[in-house]
Amino acid sequence: MTISETCWWLREALEHPEFRGEPTAPVTRDLTADVAIVGGGYTGLWTAWHLKRLDPGVDVVLLERDECGFGPSGRNGGFLNGFYEHMPALRERYGDDGARTVLAAGDDAVAGVVAWMSEHGVDAWYRPAPSLGVASSRSQVGAWDDLVEAARGLGLEDRISVLDRDAVARVCASPSFEAGFVLRDGGGTLQPARLARALRQACLDAGVRIHEGTPVRPPDPGTVGRIETAGGVVRARAVVLGANAWMAAWPGFRRRIVARATYIAVTEPAPDRLADLGWTDGTGIYDLRSSLRYLRTTPDGRIALGVGGQRGSWTGRIDDRFDTDEAGVGHAVRAIHRFFPGFRGVPIAAGWGGPIDVSPTHEPYVGTLPHGRTHYALGYTGNGVGPTHLLGRVLAAKALGLENDDTRLPLVGDEPRPWPLQPFRGAGASLVNAAVVRRDDALDAGRRPDVLTRLVAGLPDRFGYHIG
Ligand SMILES: Cc1cc2nc3c(=O)[nH]c(=O)nc-3n(C[C@H](O)[C@H](O)[C@H](O)COP(=O)(O)OP(=O)(O)OC[C@H]3O[C@@H](n4cnc5c(N)ncnc54)[C@H](O)[C@@H]3O)c2cc1C
Repeated sequence: MTISETCWWLREALEHPEFRGEPTAPVTRDLTADVAIVGGGYTGLWTAWHLKRLDPGVDVVLLERDECGFGPSGRNGGFLNGFYEHMPALRERYGDDGARTVLAAGDDAVAGVVAWMSEHGVDAWYRPAPSLGVASSRSQVGAWDDLVEAARGLGLEDRISVLDRDAVARVCASPSFEAGFVLRDGGGTLQPARLARALRQACLDAGVRIHEGTPVRPPDPGTVGRIETAGGVVRARAVVLGANAWMAAWPGFRRRIVARATYIAVTEPAPDRLADLGWTDGTGIYDLRSSLRYLRTTPDGRIALGVGGQRGSWTGRIDDRFDTDEAGVGHAVRAIHRFFPGFRGVPIAAGWGGPIDVSPTHEPYVGTLPHGRTHYALGYTGNGVGPTHLLGRVLAAKALGLENDDTRLPLVGDEPRPWPLQPFRGAGASLVNAAVVRRDDALDAGRRPDVLTRLVAGLPDRFGYHIG
């Protein structure tokens, strides 16, 4: 099965002509353009969209390995958020004023996505709702203290409320949820594949030349304005790289991100059982494990639940196990059944996965290669639905040689220090990954992890890195 068949979001979207369209032709000869974009996910598509908005005459070629939106952009959990969850890290990295600037830019991105869908008449099931962070085991209770403290420090305490067990149960009555917090960040949930496919169509309508079925050869970082494909060479004044987690195997990027897999399972509809849980307002929920779980509902009464951190590609190569993996999806299914015993009899409709581009700081950024003509966005670390709108706007400005408030954002040019080789790449990394999952599972079961597991799982934190 292909990813467009295993991923329920893609399958659903592609049933509708307005999201289906015809695949575009691959590159079969040499081409020139003003801007060449690699990758047809949200980053590449928003960049193309903003380029046309800023300069309708600009000639844009976009090259996609598969079909646009068949990567994580069409397969994700559909949580549309800005950066409020990152308040402690943003303060530490950029100070209070810088943090407020990034938070405001995140607000703007979320509002930008929502406005775009409304202006284009795109029904991507958008449902505004606060996020609910929950402790799904006793060990996670209070894991939000830093967030509450950071909100207070920034004068944003109205954004967050801590909830006890009963208050959490009034939002979603899972016996596993011990306590939690509500984050009012102006976001919500949506059908990610509908958004990605609508964006693809809007780019085509705006005159972006999209070539699908066109994998590019990973470019040499020293090469200027030239992208090679099997069918021909594309030459452009500016190049934008939006290939996300795949870039973990590309020269020059191998230590900038680590590719990790996350898997989602979605149930058949069971609106009555959702009503029993009181979980009917569309609130998106996540827990506070290191390998976190994120869960939301759909308008027809399904639960979609994802689990992070189940597999790492320590060489950077992304293989088929990132798309489908019985163990990863099985973990998601077990979590649905543990959190919601009432869903044990509800069949699972689909399960799939995808790679995320984990940056050492968990913050995304826009970078430019030293020669100045290739720009890229990386490091969304599982939070890209909203931020890609922002980073695409920055990339478009960069590609046009503009300087504006977007290109002066603290996230621009702020490359985190690289991942060290061990224990984040190579053999040591697999041991760390397994230990993190083992530690999470033990804590879930109310057990104290053994000393070796604690030691190995704690290594990233001791080095000052989050693999999450
Ligand atoms: C299962 C899952 C759940 C997630 N849940 C959420 C969520 O709920 N909320 C949220 O905000 N974020 C979530 N994310 C993260 C979010 O999906 C990403 O941050 C976002 O989609 C990144 O967009 P992108 O365009 O940068 O990358 P992608 O969508 O990965 O697009 C990159 C594109 O580049 C193409 N490509 C790769 N190599 C080449 C090549 N050599 N030549 C040409 N093209 C190439 C790929 O085929 C792909 O289409 C999730 C991710 C996954 C995998």
